[in-house]
Amino acid sequence: MKKNVVIIGAGLAGTLLCNELVENCDVTLLEAGDKNGIKYPEVNFIQKRFAEVKTFCIGGGGTTNLWHNGLIPINTEDVTSEEFKKVITETESYIDKAACKLYWLDNPYSDEYKNIVSQMSLVAEKTGAFPDGVDCLLYPEKYRKLDVKDRVDAFYSVSNIEFVSENKRIKSVSYCSGLKKHSIDADVVIISAGALGTPLLVKKVISAIGSSFDKIGTGLADHPIGFIGKVKFKKHITRSMNCLSALNKGNYICRTAIRLKSKCGKYTCGAFFRPALTMGNKLSIYKYKSLIGAGNGLERVKNMFSLKIFHPDILAEIFSHLFGITIPGRIYNIIVIFEQKRGKSRVSYDGDRLNVDWSITKEELSIYNDMLLKLNNMLTGISDEINIITDLTEEWIWSAAHHSGTISLGNKPDDLVDKDLKLNSCDNVFVCDGSVIQEHSYANTGLTIGALSMRLSERVLQ
Ligand SMILES: Cc1cc2nc3c(=O)[nH]c(=O)nc-3n(C[C@H](O)[C@H](O)[C@H](O)COP(=O)(O)OP(=O)(O)OC[C@H]3O[C@@H](n4cnc5c(N)ncnc54)[C@H](O)[C@@H]3O)c2cc1C
Repeated sequence: MKKNVVIIGAGLAGTLLCNELVENCDVTLLEAGDKNGIKYPEVNFIQKRFAEVKTFCIGGGGTTNLWHNGLIPINTEDVTSEEFKKVITETESYIDKAACKLYWLDNPYSDEYKNIVSQMSLVAEKTGAFPDGVDCLLYPEKYRKLDVKDRVDAFYSVSNIEFVSENKRIKSVSYCSGLKKHSIDADVVIISAGALGTPLLVKKVISAIGSSFDKIGTGLADHPIGFIGKVKFKKHITRSMNCLSALNKGNYICRTAIRLKSKCGKYTCGAFFRPALTMGNKLSIYKYKSLIGAGNGLERVKNMFSLKIFHPDILAEIFSHLFGITIPGRIYNIIVIFEQKRGKSRVSYDGDRLNVDWSITKEELSIYNDMLLKLNNMLTGISDEINIITDLTEEWIWSAAHHSGTISLGNKPDDLVDKDLKLNSCDNVFVCDGSVIQEHSYANTGLTIGALSMRLSERVLQ
């Protein structure tokens, strides 16, 4: 008899899980959004807003409807939690399979990734300026949103998902579709509603089995990201920096990050260089740049109707980012993706309404400022001019949309899932999406979420 698997959420993780498991199981998908349209839920931001642009959505394909498909693994060297390090290490063997599902076309991803990282390391070494090394983010040339296979019993626009339990297991899942209530039996339930949606469902599972847990939703971590300044490189290294900024390899584009380790060694950030034309360091221009960079479709076109579009740096960005043409020059924008650890930031709900209590702490800002000083020193010997902000405030940084950490993973009694992503308090419910990522240095999370999905689907079949 085939297992009945119920998957909740058709985002990056949920779609990949459906498509893997449907080969051997009866898979039912429950998705809150439409199959082919997206909505943005109203969010009550208690402290800092994520960003001026939308950083997640509800709808088939989940946040991959908005994403840029940049693929990079999380480097185990940068992970400090032993239990999560084990998970990331085990997940490495699923990276190639996940990358294929995320539109990677070349050699196995990990071979190409290793090759390009060593090539870019040689380029960086020649400059003699980057002691913490480099890393590479690879963007497949073509990508689109993810779709579930026709064989999956998929239900969209569902609401009021509830769980019925028996002996520490979820026996059935009920949901509303249209005006009708339905119920399906489940051997296995996988919750993949994203870092902001999953805690609500986990809460419901845990109360269905008669327990309670205070920490559900706490630990929200993101990547604070910001344009923090400009640099004008010396003539003799312009070519190297051009290559590190963006390298078109045909089927993909490589953008290289300069790794920056904090003094205590616990935090790792990544600095990227993007062509610019002026040495000005203006927050309003950076905010506008982020608005047109992250938006897509009609929204992006609407945002373009502003006089700021004629700022030389914006024009340089448009040519470089949107049309893949790099304007030759020695001036670069510096964008840093900062690491954030799980802390007190959290998501909670009033009924179905989402509250996001996200902040960047004073300690984090102080670590980031130290790192910027370090970056400034690194660049001194290879540049003619540097204009980096020296007293970074939270105004300069916003969410890179890598929402993570709202479900704790580990072997402590109050951790919610174990290293196989199974809920500790329930025998047949798993969580797989950004919520279980406990640490992510500067690495975009999509490839890791994909690899975790491949690993979990194998385990469910076993
Ligand atoms: C502009 C932008 C660019 C990005 N670029 C990159 C990039 O280049 N590389 C990268 O790695 N990452 C990138 N990301 C981040 C990446 O897209 C996300 O990390 C990833 O898609 C998250 O996947 P997920 O499966 O955790 O959640 P999601 O893909 O968001 O999926 C969650 C799904 O659950 C559904 N859902 C929610 N609540 C419920 C409920 N109660 N019941 C049923 N269904 C529910 C949602 O509708 C959604 O379909 C980017 C994000 C943005 C916004």
